[in-house]
Amino acid sequence: MNRIFPVRSSLALSVMLIFAAVGNAQKPAKPIFDGKSWWDHVKVIADDSMEGRETGSLGLRKAEAYAIEQLKRAGLEPAGTDDFYQNVKFVQRQIDEKNSYAFLAANGQANPIALGDDAFFSTRVEGSDDEINAPLVFAGNGLRVPENGVDDLEGLDLKGRVVVYLAGSPSTVPGSLAAHYGGLGQRWKNYAAGGAVGMIVIPNPASMDIPWSRLSLNRTHPSMDLADPEFNEIAGLKIALVFNPASAEALFAGSGHSFAEVAALGRERKPLPHFDLKVSLKACAAIQKINLDSANIVGKLSGSDATLKNEYVVLSAHIDHIGIGEPVNGDSIYNGAMDDGSGTAAVLDIAASLKQHPEKLKRSILFLLVTAEEKGLLGSKYFAAHPTVDAKSVIADINIDMFLPIVPLKVLRVQGINDSTLGERAAAIAQSFAVKAVADPEPLRNLFVRSDQYNFIRHGIPSVIMDVFYEPESPEAKIFKDWLTLRYHAPSDDVNQTVDLKSAALYEEIVRRLLLETANAGERPQWKPDSFFKRYAQTQAK
Ligand SMILES: [Zn+2]
Repeated sequence: MNRIFPVRSSLALSVMLIFAAVGNAQKPAKPIFDGKSWWDHVKVIADDSMEGRETGSLGLRKAEAYAIEQLKRAGLEPAGTDDFYQNVKFVQRQIDEKNSYAFLAANGQANPIALGDDAFFSTRVEGSDDEINAPLVFAGNGLRVPENGVDDLEGLDLKGRVVVYLAGSPSTVPGSLAAHYGGLGQRWKNYAAGGAVGMIVIPNPASMDIPWSRLSLNRTHPSMDLADPEFNEIAGLKIALVFNPASAEALFAGSGHSFAEVAALGRERKPLPHFDLKVSLKACAAIQKINLDSANIVGKLSGSDATLKNEYVVLSAHIDHIGIGEPVNGDSIYNGAMDDGSGTAAVLDIAASLKQHPEKLKRSILFLLVTAEEKGLLGSKYFAAHPTVDAKSVIADINIDMFLPIVPLKVLRVQGINDSTLGERAAAIAQSFAVKAVADPEPLRNLFVRSDQYNFIRHGIPSVIMDVFYEPESPEAKIFKDWLTLRYHAPSDDVNQTVDLKSAALYEEIVRRLLLETANAGERPQWKPDSFFKRYAQTQAK
């Protein structure tokens, strides 16, 4: 899972939606999966010898070679541009902190920002070798949501300024809208339109997935973008900082407002004030760039219906992770066993199951393992823009990312549950396995735009992502909270953790069923008329 500008809700569980099954999914047949073959794949993919599968690394190449071997064994045909591979070009950026600096200036005085402790530079910027001297403006959550009349930028002069915002969204904005407008590209589009030159995000202290110390630890790690200029969403973004909430009071000095006041409102998801700050940013970020290559992996299982075999259901997961980084407790390999070794393994395991237990398929299935998810959903962004099959023939994406079988599967979170007939079908299938399907109760975490399905959605393709979940206030809720704090994007997300093989097996049964039913259904999945994401399908049709 991707954690760019991470935010997390600690409230929100009260809005859990219980989905009443309306479909008439078939009764589950005899179980196909036992969890063991899945875990065997995880053990290989997350082995130390794969070195954390950083995009562009040898470790990732090695893991990809293993995956292709497995896909071939499952009888799939290659469906990349170069056999199973679809090559993708990247530009990598890395901060050179020794040659970078940042100050907050006011009344002729400049106070240094301690890089690492107070803030760090984001390298997801176009960059500039010049020193930036820019006044700051506080824009609340920094969101513009026309559908809800929210405009945090209204009346603010952004010209030549750096926009400071608190991560999160007001409670009046539904999760999908907040996720859409809170993404980097959409956000920057609005700021750039006003003439801004940079942005500073303050993570919401009430809802941080990862404590500041750990967030800041990997700040010198390289970031990446797709090299092709057609994907540039950050033109004009010269500087971006992530600011430690514990140091954020300095940004508000002399403004008549305090960060404490803003943070208290943010905790309650109340509307935030917007105002000019009295300090300005004086900074220079020395960013080194190199070009590199990586690849998506695409395999195909052909359908048998004369017409429908030319349509594709995609089963996707990301095979990359974040590589080798700062050691935590003496371990520097970020194995990514759950993120997303678990999803990659499920894709391989489900492909194999279709050879061992063949099903007559009307449509074809694409098994897609994307690269560079951790760099900002880049491999899937490339694939969705340049699919290796006819773009109009991709009818659905079922994405798997960190589905966390760390407790028995009794509750399944289905993101996109209310957005399409695919979401509806996923819920009905879960129900048929006596698993309760719920919508995302934590909209503040922006999860629906934080994994690869989002790039399919943006191309009009109905998508879902599902994971093992829990009842609010339950012992399981604590297990998840602890997992996120201790293991998420940490070296301890490795194979020395306890997983529930039965839970993983049941999850795979549900995914396999969803894949088959979607491949064989009379109709393509449709967006719901009231889904926010339907707009992309309309844009696409034009
Ligand atoms: Zn991740």
